[in-house]
Amino acid sequence: MIQIKRNVIETIIEASKRIYPKEFFALLGSTDGKTIDELIIVPAVYGYGHTLIKAGLIPVDFNITGSVHSHPGTANTPSNADLHSFPGFGRIHLIIAWPFNIGTIKVFDSAGKELEWKVVE
Ligand SMILES: [Zn+2]
Repeated sequence: MIQIKRNVIETIIEASKRIYPKEFFALLGSTDGKTIDELIIVPAVYGYGHTLIKAGLIPVDFNITGSVHSHPGTANTPSNADLHSFPGFGRIHLIIAWPFNIGTIKVFDSAGKELEWKVVE
């Protein structure tokens, strides 16, 4: 079971709403190796359906556990492009679909298999 801190989830929801209809993208980290408790907003080129990340902009000391991005539509399954990029950004990948709430978040592994997760305080 993947554990994610409530403040990380809340930040993802707020940021996804703010940047809509563009795609929000960030990296996830864990300070204790178990709970996802860090979110890093990577300077990126936001676009409709594409978010290009410049790899050199990711801090070298950041412990990347995975990634999160928003889908401006209601589908929250990984696209072919998502499955291609997931392995480059760690093991755990969140997708939050419109209208951006805790019920539209799904978590996947790098191969696109859905994982169980829960919010922790
Ligand atoms: Zn996607």
